[in-house]
Amino acid sequence: MNFDILTLFPNMFDNILNESIIGRAVKNGIVTFNFTNIRDFSGNKHNRVDDYPYGGGQGMVMMPQCIYSAYKSVAEKYDTKPHTVYLSPKGTVFNQKKAAELAHYDSIVLLCGHYEGVDQRVLDEIVDEEISIGDYVLTGGELPAMVVIDAVCRMLDGVLSCEESFSDESHFDGLLEYPQYTRPPEFLGKSVPEILLSGDHKKIEKWRREKSIEETKSKRPDMYEKWKNENN
Ligand code: SAM
Repeated sequence: MNFDILTLFPNMFDNILNESIIGRAVKNGIVTFNFTNIRDFSGNKHNRVDDYPYGGGQGMVMMPQCIYSAYKSVAEKYDTKPHTVYLSPKGTVFNQKKAAELAHYDSIVLLCGHYEGVDQRVLDEIVDEEISIGDYVLTGGELPAMVVIDAVCRMLDGVLSCEESFSDESHFDGLLEYPQYTRPPEFLGKSVPEILLSGDHKKIEKWRREKSIEETKSKRPDMYEKWKNENN
């Protein structure tokens, strides 16, 4: 899968996408990242990419032409229009289902806004969907883009090993994950639940399912109600 990222701050991505599981996916050729610096398309000698908002108001707005030119330079590599996402606090709130849906694309363009946001006309022209990573406002779309990339990449075939599988994790089937334990068997006087040491895989599976339901009911009653309605 390929991600084309349109941003004013490509360096922000350096560490995150080169380390750990995503870094390994890049090395294994499962995912590629291409960065396009919107400022390279400013088209003016001061490299200016933002201007005052028409109608007045606080802050600066990213101008449409530089974003459009940056986008065109990326889109022309593809035979058909690449799926284009604008990271925005006004977008649909991101979740596991959306991550799974995005993982089906061969290529995705991610547009990271900054300042007070982006001129609406270029959004209307190039964007297929707006995604928010939560109901709060960040300074730019770079962190949201990294969140989306991470969640999508770990669902691609070959990114996680069997032991790291996502299918029994929180949110995959509408429930939160059961509690996890590792060595030592006793820590600060607290023991690992005996059933996990029993070797009885059927019983362990049943215990985990029950704990998963309990955990969801107490920590995310909204999720629990939804899961209950869909599964009864
Ligand atoms: N003035 C905008 C508003 O009120 O909706 C907020 C602009 S924000 C300061 C600058 C950029 O950060 C946005 O263009 C967007 O790309 C990104 N951003 C901020 N919060 C976000 C969120 N919760 N999810 C996704 N992107 C976000």
